[in-house]
Amino acid sequence: MLFVADEVQSGLGRTGHLLATRATGVDADVYLLGKALGGGIMPLSAVVADADVLGVLHPGQHGSTFGGNPLACAVGRAVITLLADEGPAGMLARARRLGDVLHGRLAALVGHGVVAVRGTGLWAGVDVDPRLGTGRDVSEAMMRRGVLVKDTHGSTIRLSPPLVITERELHEAVDALTGALSDLP
Ligand SMILES: *Cc1c(COP(=O)(O)O)cnc(C)c1O
Repeated sequence: MLFVADEVQSGLGRTGHLLATRATGVDADVYLLGKALGGGIMPLSAVVADADVLGVLHPGQHGSTFGGNPLACAVGRAVITLLADEGPAGMLARARRLGDVLHGRLAALVGHGVVAVRGTGLWAGVDVDPRLGTGRDVSEAMMRRGVLVKDTHGSTIRLSPPLVITERELHEAVDALTGALSDLP
């Protein structure tokens, strides 16, 4: 049986590691990558595995109109170079450090309109106290304060800022969340 790890959202530095599974010491047989692989400017996704797995497919057996697009692939290679082996830009260490800042701030909101916070690195799920409103209500209140987040599962909002976010912008985002919580009746 093959272990397929969907790292489309968790991978490529979001958790402060190249792959979230790496941080747990687990090695998957197949990795799914996307979104961030395109560096935020190109639509690109990939199925990554060793030759003994991917080798079961032979040329012509699997196709995609836009698969292997040269410009998108060049961007993807640049993204991997930027992140791999901690990378020249130190993006992974940065995501870990800023993640600690983010989670430190969010932890202080628990009991003040927030029921629980999950996540690691520059990635957080924030459970809003349902008595204040829905995740959608909080998302819209944050939008009015200039910060876009996405709600999920009724009362959760997700924070997944770009890895290039500055510490100051991160504080502004949590300030917007704090303000949004107080905007609700
Ligand atoms: C967006 C997403 C996908 C789908 O990626 P596509 O590149 O649109 O195929 C798969 N898994 C997760 C977790 C995603 O967020």
